Amino acid sequence: MSERNRPSVLIVEDEAALQALLRAVLGSEWNIKTAANGKTALDLAGEFVPDIVLLDIGLPDLDGLEVCRQLKSDPRLEHVPVIFLTARTSGEDEIDGLQAGGNDYIAKPINPAVLKARIRTHLELKQNRDELLRLARTDGLTGLYNRRSFDDLLNREWRRLARTGEPLSVIMIDVDHFKLYNDTYGHGGGDLCLQRVARASESALQRPADVVARYGGEEFVALLPETKLEGAMAVAEAIRAAVAVLEIPHKASQTAPHITLSLGAACTIPQPDQNPAGLLAAADKQLYAAKSEGRNRARGSDVA
Ligand code: GH3
Ligand code: MG
Ligand code: MG
Ligand code: MG
Repeated sequence: MSERNRPSVLIVEDEAALQALLRAVLGSEWNIKTAANGKTALDLAGEFVPDIVLLDIGLPDLDGLEVCRQLKSDPRLEHVPVIFLTARTSGEDEIDGLQAGGNDYIAKPINPAVLKARIRTHLELKQNRDELLRLARTDGLTGLYNRRSFDDLLNREWRRLARTGEPLSVIMIDVDHFKLYNDTYGHGGGDLCLQRVARASESALQRPADVVARYGGEEFVALLPETKLEGAMAVAEAIRAAVAVLEIPHKASQTAPHITLSLGAACTIPQPDQNPAGLLAAADKQLYAAKSEGRNRARGSDVA
């Protein structure tokens, strides 16, 4: 593994000699960051999200237990394993550490071989967990977010924008005459086509917060936070055009000699006492309008 891709270990230890020793022992295998107090540890962790944290309990400012609690309450850091390092070895301290959300506990003086072995174990568990999570969130065929992740993201954005009063847009995207495509080119050909449509749709998004997901079958959906209808229509047109220029042959299509999309956009300002179902229904209605007006086009509307 190249130095850049090595997992990173955040060492939080106020005793300079021990910090230096840990850095020397662990530095050959992992990328190391160090902090000598709780505040710096939290700042660093928030900045670069380590793969694992070694956390001294006796720190000059915040107690290590408190640092752990704060790490575990941050959604970006909650699954980063924490190993407590401490001179205090009574069983009660161990319970305190685990109750604070710690994953393991190592007593000083530290045996480097034992510490390294424990770090490896926790990193492996975390990698397995991350991989399972990734698989659960993505669609196997296209690699896009799946329906479940989309629903989660939509609900999260709905609640967030209900607080800020900013608009939220969605675009329902449907491949035209796709049943005929499968009938003509076979299911394998259809799968390849869906992969290309997915890549092209992704490439048409402009902002980091924009997301496209596979909604099911030959339907995709784009989520555009802080985007008015006008912006959503521009994105819808960009997605339509990105797929059209691929000119994926579709000789059975009654719309064009190549693969085309129909799209329905809808925009609203989320309300805290409502859910996003109405927004999705409105986008679906616009998609239906795009279909009935001849396909290969985008329609959109604001939702009151
Ligand atoms: P329209 O223009 O009205 O959207 O017509 P359509 O044929 O695209 O719509 P319909 O909903 O009748 O057909 C969708 C087709 O998409 C039928 C289904 O077999 C195909 N399909 C759904 N999921 C997959 C998939 O994962 N792979 C492939 N190859 N085909 C799929
Ligand atoms: Mg200390
Ligand atoms: Mg469909
Ligand atoms: Mg279709």
